[in-house]
Amino acid sequence: MSADCIFCKIAIGDIPSKKIYEDEDIIVINDIHPIAPVHFLIVPKLHIESLLSCEEQHQTLLGKMLRLAPQLAKEQGLPGFRTMINTGHEGGQEVFHLHMHVFGGGNKLPKT
Ligand code: AMP
Ligand code: ZN
Repeated sequence: MSADCIFCKIAIGDIPSKKIYEDEDIIVINDIHPIAPVHFLIVPKLHIESLLSCEEQHQTLLGKMLRLAPQLAKEQGLPGFRTMINTGHEGGQEVFHLHMHVFGGGNKLPKT
């Protein structure tokens, strides 16, 4: 838990969110500014700043995040989807608590 972190606050319920999945390690919420008809965020409850901060001990958690993407995408009716993990300022990361975007729906996504 990091005191100033919005996703930590969402994970403990201090900030309301549109939660679509939760287990002991992970919450999944709808993005507040969706860029596709379906756009959710897979967020570990553990405060990890970014993919750059991940170490061997996080391997199982990272695998769990990846496995959840197709499972939840199917539940949301997506026949295909895109995942994105923005990493670091240069990678466009705005919230410095690791999360994976999953989005899709509507027309075929453009290549970039
Ligand atoms: P990034 O760090 O660039 O991967 O982007 C952070 C994402 O978090 C953006 O797509 C925001 O729209 C989203 N976001 C920020 N605050 C919230 C919130 N309170 N609930 C849901 N999504 C959020
Ligand atoms: Zn956090």
